[in-house]
Amino acid sequence: MSQNFFKSTRKIIGAGVNYKEVLRITNATKPENPVIFFKPISSLISTDENTIKVPKVFGAINYEAELGVVIGKSCKDVTPDQALSYVAGYCLALDMTGMDFILGARPKGLPWCLGKGFDTSTPVSRLITPEEIGNPSDVRVWCMVNDQLKQDDSTRNLIFSIPELISYTSKYMTLEENDLILTGTPAGAGPVKHGDVIECGLSDIVQMKYHVKDE
Ligand code: MG
Repeated sequence: MSQNFFKSTRKIIGAGVNYKEVLRITNATKPENPVIFFKPISSLISTDENTIKVPKVFGAINYEAELGVVIGKSCKDVTPDQALSYVAGYCLALDMTGMDFILGARPKGLPWCLGKGFDTSTPVSRLITPEEIGNPSDVRVWCMVNDQLKQDDSTRNLIFSIPELISYTSKYMTLEENDLILTGTPAGAGPVKHGDVIECGLSDIVQMKYHVKDE
């Protein structure tokens, strides 16, 4: 397992609406099961690249800072109790989102994957080991845009826990080494455009900084 784990990633699995505060401020009801979507692996970039590109088809894109879970060994249909034994480590991720596309598609019942799949839409940090992160279910996830704090919450406020996300997804498909699960974003996600600077982090364990530029 190298620091560049994502070069071998074969699936990026995202969880939507997974922080209690997001439910509260949107007056939404708690989903019965995790809301799961995919992102293409071509959307991944490392911190060696420092630019998130806004596709020409989108006016603005949203930042979503998230804790990522990196699978360490193949698993299928695991229980929540078993789930963490299949985790190699964690990462900081941004789940950049073409929100206008999603808001346009969702009410019509149309798929919204194009709003999640554009190039550079999944920046990830280095791999963080389980020892380094300590308790993954109490990690601060924060995000600043142009030096203003926009997101700040803890993974203890997830609706579906990390073991539950792994267990639920593994009922449907085999999770493989280096697969990445994005655990959802805290309240405060919002749009960025050309010229903005995003800085985000997990507690004081790891940070990333990206410049937003038009494609
Ligand atoms: Mg997200």
